[in-house]
Amino acid sequence: MPGRDSLKARYEAVQTRVAEAATRGGRNGGDIVVVAVTKHAAIDQIRELIALGHRDFGENRTQTLVQHAAQVEDYLDRRRQLRRASGGELPADIRWHMIGHLQRNKVRKTLELVRLVHSVDSLRLAEEIQQAAAAVLDKPAEVLIQVNIGAEKQKHGIAPAATRHLIEQIDTMFNVRVRGLMTMAPLTEDRAVIRSVFQRGRELFEDIRRSGGVNERFNILSMGMSSDYELAVECGANIVRVGTAIFGPPADGDDAADDLS
Ligand SMILES: *Cc1c(COP(=O)(O)O)cnc(C)c1O
Repeated sequence: MPGRDSLKARYEAVQTRVAEAATRGGRNGGDIVVVAVTKHAAIDQIRELIALGHRDFGENRTQTLVQHAAQVEDYLDRRRQLRRASGGELPADIRWHMIGHLQRNKVRKTLELVRLVHSVDSLRLAEEIQQAAAAVLDKPAEVLIQVNIGAEKQKHGIAPAATRHLIEQIDTMFNVRVRGLMTMAPLTEDRAVIRSVFQRGRELFEDIRRSGGVNERFNILSMGMSSDYELAVECGANIVRVGTAIFGPPADGDDAADDLS
């Protein structure tokens, strides 16, 4: 597998670039969470990242999430047993993020595993989460609203103009808490276009935050992937979702279609 032996170097490079972008944007690198997107990663790569101290991981499909979460749990169990025997420090829990389009019949399973759902874009999905959270969680499900800033036809996400209303509707649900917004840049090489999408994401986020009505925990802005995470951080993202830049390009034969989800 190409570049596999340099996972540590790639990971550290991403952390350094995030910190530098944060400084350019007048913020602290420590305030930005890198979600390592494992949809094309091998389990030994995921283990290596955990051993390096990484805690936040993302998946865009429930099926892969379930599989990777189970493998990671096995690994952590083994490490905990070893540590207990040797008296060392126990490894911390992993935080999984659902970053892709969520099918309503997969909501329950997903909520059992994730800390944050980045991709709520309809009232129906929020209602499904409300019901499932009451059944499987002992606290509200935390979600971001996925906004389609670039208004691309085939992309998921709600229109910017409808975002505030959706948040107001969800805020009446006891078991769902809106923590912020998520957006994706359009597929383009044009940095100016990407920057303007991220800036509009930031403006919408700040507008909603300032206008009141949302709780004080509305404080997460998830923007940026491997090709544009530095730009996203400069524009105000405090979560970036990075796969390829950490794990290397997907192996041949991997399902590329899910990238469109
Ligand atoms: C796959 C994926 C990413 C990460 O993509 P890379 O280009 O590999 O960094 C980020 N966000 C979402 C929603 C994804 O599906």
